[in-house]
Amino acid sequence: MIERVTSNIYMVKIPLPQSPLKATNSYIIKGEDRNLIVDTGYNLPECKAALLQGLRELGVSLDVTDIFITHMHPDHLDLVWSLQSDSSKIYLSKPDLETVKLSDWWEENRHLFSRISGLPEDVLQEIIDRHSPRKFHQGKAPEFTTVEDGDEIKVGDCLLQCVETPGHSKGHMCLYEPEKKILICGDHVLNDITPNIALWQYEWNPLEKYLDSLDKVLGFEVERALPGHRSLIRDFKGRVMELKSHHQERLREILSLLDYHGKDAFRIASEMSWDMTYESWDQFPATQKLFATAEALSHLKYLDDKGFIDKKTLQQRMLFTKRH
Ligand SMILES: [Zn+2]
Repeated sequence: MIERVTSNIYMVKIPLPQSPLKATNSYIIKGEDRNLIVDTGYNLPECKAALLQGLRELGVSLDVTDIFITHMHPDHLDLVWSLQSDSSKIYLSKPDLETVKLSDWWEENRHLFSRISGLPEDVLQEIIDRHSPRKFHQGKAPEFTTVEDGDEIKVGDCLLQCVETPGHSKGHMCLYEPEKKILICGDHVLNDITPNIALWQYEWNPLEKYLDSLDKVLGFEVERALPGHRSLIRDFKGRVMELKSHHQERLREILSLLDYHGKDAFRIASEMSWDMTYESWDQFPATQKLFATAEALSHLKYLDDKGFIDKKTLQQRMLFTKRH
């Protein structure tokens, strides 16, 4: 299904089987000699078929098309493994490329993550078995062209500026067209769901970066924002303000859940309120438990860095406590 967004920008919905996100929005920008695809989908036959169908309907050939990836998550990136052609440039930020290059991200982060999250081993193992990137990154690795904040990409009458917006991933990038007042915003700002702000290593503070990145885009004049999932955003500033207050609310909720004995992030996540269809935490699939725990952790880290909470280590697990 193709939707025309402006004179030369089109949106194709790429189905994501078994994902609560339902679909990734892939944008195709038609140019004179070269075209640009922004974001792809999983490396699955269903995703590939949908994108190729969209390209066919628009009369766009992959041989004269470059690909821009807003961030390295598999629902945006992985399909490039089977789309790349020798003549296509594939743009990605440097911090995200470094994460992609880690040969086995899960294995490298597993012990680290289980220590800071308190996530039970069996839940972690189930996820690793299902999501090991080796399964999806088969064949020759693509050659990436790295982009930085302020870089420009010209496609037809669009002059797209790269805007680094870390938070949802370390090197998340949006594309801004100042003349048309369009922001292609990946998963930085979503309309109907809240972008997942997850912490996987305790050294960095994704929520702080994310809130800064929200303030950064608030300064842009945006008439239409084109997100990575679900519906297009008309009231961009309003939505950004909602996301900011959502996280303030979350921070307050987590503070109210802490006690003086200490709880690990997994337990705190299980006590938080989630906008989900499952009746109880026990019914959450393993992957959702993982994302919920990583989301709880990003807020705990933010509170910890601000000095609002304390933490201690007990039997190799990190516990968070109310400040004395
Ligand atoms: Zn996404």
